[in-house]
Amino acid sequence: MSTPSTGRVAVITGASSGIGAATARALAAKGYRVALLARRVERIEALAAELGDGAIAIAADVTDRDSLVAAAARVADELGGADVLVNNAGIMLLGPFIPEQREDFTRMVEVNLLGAITATEVFLGQLRDGGGDLVNISSVAGRTARPGNSVYAATKWGLGGWSESLRQELQPDIRVMVIEPGAVATELPTHITHAQTREGVTAAYDTVPVTAEDVAEVIAFAVERPKHLTLNEILLRPTNQA
Ligand code: NDP
Repeated sequence: MSTPSTGRVAVITGASSGIGAATARALAAKGYRVALLARRVERIEALAAELGDGAIAIAADVTDRDSLVAAAARVADELGGADVLVNNAGIMLLGPFIPEQREDFTRMVEVNLLGAITATEVFLGQLRDGGGDLVNISSVAGRTARPGNSVYAATKWGLGGWSESLRQELQPDIRVMVIEPGAVATELPTHITHAQTREGVTAAYDTVPVTAEDVAEVIAFAVERPKHLTLNEILLRPTNQA
């Protein structure tokens, strides 16, 4: 059965795996045309092929503004502009706050916080055109903090403050939504560079019951609300998470 088209276009950063890929599938199933942005091109090309007409794969690194500008030009030319931007690209390089981990600190700020800010600034004109949605993927770590997640939490708390300011500044043209998942079973912890932390966190993630598809359903529900209503902030956790 073919899917009715909503006519809306969603741009998803970090669409090559996990929550981003699941969100692309969920929105495509609702008739959205989707632009899949990530660095691992073979993954987004395979996903675009799976989703068929209306899905395009665009190589883009959120720390490289030129690649985002080029992506925005393709979205305008090939899909007519973005109605939804999902700032999902992120890394969670947990570990102790020690000088040896300083490259992780910089990378997390550059990807999780500056990456979202830059993508939003680049797509802002397209989102304003006709009224768009900005969905920022924060985390439960945007509301709490624990030993070992200091800079990750800082980037997600930063997303929260930035989003709240934008919510007030951009309304009513653009709705701003913050999604704050707890643990979700994805490859996110496999990128942790601090070996001992990686072992502990990846082992803990083996039993996480919440899937990327669970989160994608919530995102799709949020953007599908009528225009006069905004789900500004959604915190969701595995039921058994402390
Ligand atoms: P994944 O590791 O599966 O996905 C991360 C995505 O980010 C990948 O598609 C990756 O693509 C992309 N990415 C990383 N760096 C860059 C970059 N420089 N430029 C563009 N894309 C980049 O993990 P999740 O799906 O779990 O994570 C998605 C978001 O959800 C993150 O923001 C994360 O913080 C957040 N989150 C996840 C939770 C979890 O427990 N899993 C809990 C709370 C929040 P590529 O490498 O191909 O560029």
